Amino acid sequence: MNSKIWLSSPHMGGTEQKYIQDAFETNWIAPLGPNVNEFENALETFLNEDKFVSCLSSGTAAIHLALVQLGVRNGDEVLCQTFTFCGSANPIIYQGATPVFVDSETETWNMCPSYLEEAIKQRISKGKKPKAIILVHLYGMPAKIDEILAIARKYEIPIIEDAAEALGSTYKGRKCGTFGEYSILSFNGNKIITTSGGGALVCRTKEQKEQTIFYATQARDNKPYYQHSKIGYNYRMSNINAGIGRGQMEVLTHHVNLRRSNNAFYSQIFENLNGIRLLQEPNSDFYSNHWLSCITIDPKEANFTREELRLALLENNIESRPLWNPMHLQPVFKDNLFYGSNISETLFANGLCLPSGSNLLEEEKNRIKSAINSFLSKKA
Ligand SMILES: *Cc1c(COP(=O)(O)O)cnc(C)c1O
Repeated sequence: MNSKIWLSSPHMGGTEQKYIQDAFETNWIAPLGPNVNEFENALETFLNEDKFVSCLSSGTAAIHLALVQLGVRNGDEVLCQTFTFCGSANPIIYQGATPVFVDSETETWNMCPSYLEEAIKQRISKGKKPKAIILVHLYGMPAKIDEILAIARKYEIPIIEDAAEALGSTYKGRKCGTFGEYSILSFNGNKIITTSGGGALVCRTKEQKEQTIFYATQARDNKPYYQHSKIGYNYRMSNINAGIGRGQMEVLTHHVNLRRSNNAFYSQIFENLNGIRLLQEPNSDFYSNHWLSCITIDPKEANFTREELRLALLENNIESRPLWNPMHLQPVFKDNLFYGSNISETLFANGLCLPSGSNLLEEEKNRIKSAINSFLSKKA
């Protein structure tokens, strides 16, 4: 049996262990220390917009602390892109608030500006003005940011930008993760860079960053003894994990280029095939890190289904995965409001994520290509 080809697996650059070694030698084995500070500095430099980054235990924790600081609480409503991973939406529930889901558009697969505006108008007419908008750049593809920001400004609703999958992507030359009132990053094991597990909250001001660290370290008042005037969380990143992050920052741009070349590889395989569409940038305003390369299959035109291709790849020990199952279709959110039509539902029905790691070997690409081509020739 051939070895397994994974969808996206950790890809170390080589210097990560040196920073972990430093932590051991200086005994900074704690949720603070030089690696945390330096990882934050490296992210601030990379994002290049005078942002203030605080590193946390996960991307989900970062969304939670954004909601906390925007004052979202019991009874509030928060608009959230429905086509996403549950980590975008669950923190709304942690705050006792209610997610209201918004469908995608077909070009970038992210939040549709017109459904967003429809949702805002409707909720305002019911006396329920949304407290925040959670916008996601799925699979690394930037959303239609100008249109979404214009609507958010018009109705004065803050954006939480979920850039968990989009570190290294840009929109009109500006990095994803710099567009929100708060923006979040994730360094989970399968993301563009990893700290094994971790995340970050990107803030506009130094005060927001300090407040984030305050909440992430149990909201301890500035006293010589333990006093708490607010409820806090244990969400800070460890100095060990941050050491991995420092090493990963040294290879981030290189790994983005490798993921983009995977996308070009799939583009060659699928070009001129009826009924198959590879997710690519709509125009030169958009620059995707192509965290994952994804296709949709129109079963009528292509003559096969997403599931048939997935199983054919699996037979060759190649992992692929359906696109995200929209939040409004999840059993746990079945009673929540949804604004849209069948866009994300159709993407889920017909879409597949293909192996996209920056560590894909040439011989693995050859295996993928011949597995796809032999499947296609059987279907032709
Ligand atoms: C991974 C991910 C998150 C959550 O990040 P964690 O670090 O796993 O908590 C949130 N949103 C999206 C879109 C993600 O892909």
